[in-house]
Amino acid sequence: MGVDALFGVVPKEDLSNKEVLELSYRLAEAIGYDYFFIDRENGIHAITKQDDGSLRVNAVFRYYGPGYERGPWPLIAGVLEWLRRNIDGTVVYGDDSSYKFIEVTDEFMDEMWSYFAEKGHHDYFHYGATGKVMCDFCRKPMTPVGWSYGKTLWLCHGCGYKTETEGVDDI
Ligand SMILES: [Zn+2]
Repeated sequence: MGVDALFGVVPKEDLSNKEVLELSYRLAEAIGYDYFFIDRENGIHAITKQDDGSLRVNAVFRYYGPGYERGPWPLIAGVLEWLRRNIDGTVVYGDDSSYKFIEVTDEFMDEMWSYFAEKGHHDYFHYGATGKVMCDFCRKPMTPVGWSYGKTLWLCHGCGYKTETEGVDDI
């Protein structure tokens, strides 16, 4: 189970369906359509207009924030910044665990970039990286990422090297 990022916009003025469609196309084109849940059969574009006039962005990123340094912050920030610069209104960012949203301001973006620059994915990726298995190329502890048939699979987040050890390591 993972926590997903949520994106919303409350536009200052109501947007027409045609305007939302245009924004959806441009956002998917700019960031990459693979990053959005788009369903042609059910008429779901990158951006969906809600009954109250607010917009929901159907992006499929894991959340990134203090305490959950998992999702791709540079891409998340790219979506947030794109929304801020293309839609006159309030952009909000949240997660699908707490459903708490925060207003995206210059100060928020600045704080998050500083946090990301300092922490990156280290705390999340290094869960269980005790130093028992080291990457001899990067000289860093490897992270246990899977268990099967009595073996533990380890990954180095610096170079992608994987290796297996006998035994199931409890973390
Ligand atoms: Zn490595």
